[in-house]
Amino acid sequence: MSKTKIFVLFISIILALIFSDSIYAQSLPQGKHHRIRERTIDLIHYKAELKINFNQREVAGKASITFRPLCKSNIFQLDAIRLKIEGIDLLQKNTTQPLTYNHHAQILDVTLDQQYSPKDTLTITISYSAQPNAGMYFLKDYDHDGQFYIYTYGEGGLHANWLPIYNEVNDKFSMEMVVTVPQPYSVISNGKLINVEKHESGNQTFYWKQELPHSNYLISIYIGEFEQEDLHPAFGKIPLSYWVPEGRLKQGAYAFRNTTKMVEFFSNKFNYKYPWDKYDQVAFPDYSIGAMEHTSVTGHRASVLRDEQAPDNFGPPDFERYYQVWSAEALISHELAHHWFGNNLTCRSLNYLWLNESFATYCNMLWDEEALGKDEFHLVRREALDRYLNYVAKNHVIRPLEYAYYDTPGDMYTIEITYFKGALIVHTLRSILGDEDFFRTMSYFLRKHEFSNVISTDFKIAIEEATGKNLDWFFDDWVYGGGYPIFEVSYNYLNDQKLIDLTVKQIQPIIEGQNLFTLPVGITIATSKGTKKETVWVKSQVDQFLLDCGEKPLMISFDGEGALVAEIRFGKSLNELLYQINNDELPGRIWALRQMAQKYPVHPKSLPTISNILSGQFFWGLKAEAALLLGKLRTPEAEKELSKALKSPDYRIRKAAVLALPNFRINFAEKILKHVIKQDSHSDIVATAIVSLARTNPDANIDFIRQQINRPAWYDEIALACLSTFEIIGDKQLVPDIEPFSNEKYHEHIRNTALDAWKNCAPYDQKLHQVLMDCSEDAPPGVKSHAIGMLGILNVSQAVPLLEKIKNESGDIDLQVAAENSLSKIR
Ligand SMILES: [Zn+2]
Repeated sequence: MSKTKIFVLFISIILALIFSDSIYAQSLPQGKHHRIRERTIDLIHYKAELKINFNQREVAGKASITFRPLCKSNIFQLDAIRLKIEGIDLLQKNTTQPLTYNHHAQILDVTLDQQYSPKDTLTITISYSAQPNAGMYFLKDYDHDGQFYIYTYGEGGLHANWLPIYNEVNDKFSMEMVVTVPQPYSVISNGKLINVEKHESGNQTFYWKQELPHSNYLISIYIGEFEQEDLHPAFGKIPLSYWVPEGRLKQGAYAFRNTTKMVEFFSNKFNYKYPWDKYDQVAFPDYSIGAMEHTSVTGHRASVLRDEQAPDNFGPPDFERYYQVWSAEALISHELAHHWFGNNLTCRSLNYLWLNESFATYCNMLWDEEALGKDEFHLVRREALDRYLNYVAKNHVIRPLEYAYYDTPGDMYTIEITYFKGALIVHTLRSILGDEDFFRTMSYFLRKHEFSNVISTDFKIAIEEATGKNLDWFFDDWVYGGGYPIFEVSYNYLNDQKLIDLTVKQIQPIIEGQNLFTLPVGITIATSKGTKKETVWVKSQVDQFLLDCGEKPLMISFDGEGALVAEIRFGKSLNELLYQINNDELPGRIWALRQMAQKYPVHPKSLPTISNILSGQFFWGLKAEAALLLGKLRTPEAEKELSKALKSPDYRIRKAAVLALPNFRINFAEKILKHVIKQDSHSDIVATAIVSLARTNPDANIDFIRQQINRPAWYDEIALACLSTFEIIGDKQLVPDIEPFSNEKYHEHIRNTALDAWKNCAPYDQKLHQVLMDCSEDAPPGVKSHAIGMLGILNVSQAVPLLEKIKNESGDIDLQVAAENSLSKIR
């Protein structure tokens, strides 16, 4: 080997080591293998008659279950987590016959009086009681002394904590829910409200019935003292209403103002009318899951309630980005869209969860497209792509959408993969099929599989049956395979032949789970004579395309419409970038703007380009991006532009400017941020400026930030911002400011942020450790899981018995695993 070769080898090894941290270390996640669960019976109908004991946090009741055996047998199983079973009877004509049973671990084995076959239909009743520590949650109602809110949540198999039931998604049944509570509580559940019976005792029995079948996790009851208002019925017929805590009807009216239009939009778009009895939306404090699409009765965290002054986001506020994928409208339309994809068609197991979540996320993007227009639709996908690419860069995980290896259900709910990447892939599919074929396929898929369970292949076959197209190649890369392509694009203009010689390389590492991708890519070519669009098919490590072009192009845009989940590296001159910034579709414009700010930050043309966008008639998202990118220019002239951006009437543009400020000179940034904190009228800007101030110069501004903490704001976001900055500052003297916000009267995001701040300021504080143990034992689930994790991080050895108890007794597998992880850290 020559010296040059040794040198080249040496350089290659060094480069490999440098890149190993970024793109070369990606891998598939590990975990237990999961198959679709086998079952011994087919549930047909489920009736629950429940009484709630609020003080004991107990539910007692009778479940009447009608089912068909799926094999010849005299024994069958149900799931029952920590339920106290009092008796099981078989109902036959007019007689009841007691049955023997064996309740071990979380399984209830029931022995029938004789063998039955799949031809038989049987009904049994189970009397039981339970003090659930998961699946059903009791929250104090701070507006009404001694009262509670109750909600239930069943994803990940939690309903067996309060109902004896088959706890997986691959069985569907109709249901009745009969719940007795004292006045003034209301009970809201699935289906139609048949009757409310008032008893002499003052109790009331709410009787709800749903005739269409659904999976167990979609069962729900919400209990509380609510106020209710109807919305205009969809198509003049489908009843819609919302339920909110006392005094918040006006905020509910504003938050849910578009629900009627959304129901009609999805019904029309999928040519499949909303099939359920009605649609209720319930909002209440500390709904830890955020929002959940229980059939015909969606639950929302109360942060959804708002007026026109509130920021777009659903909550908690985001101090990192000017754009929120999870706006309130996005959440509302997402949960509603599940009533087509998720509740009607349901994934057959969590391995196929993308058929619920990627679809519903794409639907909320479709609502943006409908309600806010094409640029907003581009922007939500741009943001989803950024979030996904950042996730992979940080975590090195390239899980395919369909996947069978995971330890907890929570692992399959990764927002960046299952929601964001998945939705973007559904969009890629739409761009491949075209609108007409895509929406026709969605409609066909719904009709073919209505009220049943589906796997990815069912969708692939539906495409084939509806359009004649075989998308094996697409599913191999994007559903069964993971990761994403990195395209390195370059071109030469061949003057003599009037051709563009375009080279596209795929430079992503070829590893298990991530291969070369096959894709059609839209290319926009602009010349002085006009613009034309071409499609090229990439499929190899290196593809070369010759494209007709009468003169040297002004712009070649590679996927300028942002139809792909891909990273694009395309070295361009400043002039080409400037042309693209002014003429391409929004995703291509944002891409070019970022390239310009990155590669030519001090070029004399860069700042005027940004100024021009900020002062011109452009879409707000492009302006906000331009304001944010001033942070890369950082010149005195850029400071002047930034000051102008802070006067924009659109708070989202001001927010981008506030996010850019920590990149500037400390004195300048500090002065401006303090001014914004004192003067800006929008609480989201004030809150973001507080966090930016701490990022700029944390120690010098402790007292100033302290003074802001009690300012009123939507979702207490100013207090949240102050607590976040205390976490950054990490000074022990702040503990007295932080501690009160860990109290149970605050919402869960305040409490969790206070706990994080406390941890950074005084990690060995015994009082903090005690608070964390208290929260691990009894708090809303969002606080509980946070506290369990912190006990491990802080190595709190006196928490071992408590963590052991959670690991062994919690009815929530995600909490069990969280406790186990904390235990292994402590040990
Ligand atoms: Zn969802």
